[in-house]
Amino acid sequence: MTAKRDFSLLTIDLDDTLWPCAPTIRRAEAGLYHWLERTAPRLMDACNPESMRRHRRELMTNRPEIAHDITAVRRQSLWDLLSAYGYDATLADDAIALFLEHRNRVEPYADVIPALQALGAEHRLVSVTNGNADVTRTPLRGLFDLSLSAADVGAQKPDPAMFVGALEWGGVLPERALHLGDDPHLDVEAARCLGMEAVWINRDGRQWPDELDPPAAEVADLAQLRLWLEGK
Ligand SMILES: [Mg+2]
Repeated sequence: MTAKRDFSLLTIDLDDTLWPCAPTIRRAEAGLYHWLERTAPRLMDACNPESMRRHRRELMTNRPEIAHDITAVRRQSLWDLLSAYGYDATLADDAIALFLEHRNRVEPYADVIPALQALGAEHRLVSVTNGNADVTRTPLRGLFDLSLSAADVGAQKPDPAMFVGALEWGGVLPERALHLGDDPHLDVEAARCLGMEAVWINRDGRQWPDELDPPAAEVADLAQLRLWLEGK
């Protein structure tokens, strides 16, 4: 039997690690477009979800200083489009508030809440996300000691800024910290580059990319992760 694995701090990705991301974004965008159809019909006659996505992508290229902050990109894009079609641009703030309200209505996978409660009893837990969910407004409120987003630290993973932020906050060396995430590059490889260990949360049986060294472990959910930590 392998010994218990001992870490003092866990950093944990959110989207597609603790809840499925795509259905949440779909619902948030549907709510937003429904609101825009009533509030800014000329804009919605001229634009569609695809052209608005293109507008956001162009904005990320043209405004690199906000590209890491997807809420700022969405707000600026709506601001520009509302102005262009003759509406009060400050409606963008109402639109974003509505979008984020839906965005935080995530549905964690069944294993997540019991596992985070158990893991939190023995480790400090820090959420690290490139996305714009606000953990304190989700069903996972209260389960993390600290939550960091790309918007908070000014850079998205694979940039190490969020990992460094978590380690500095905890006063923990990288080798005493473990990262959990679904993305081989943005999560596993990014954390390893800093000297942390990293476990791949592979909920849907994907193939590990050939170009990367294998992860310390691959698990299908957080219940399996707990067994791995116990050395089982
Ligand atoms: Mg993710």
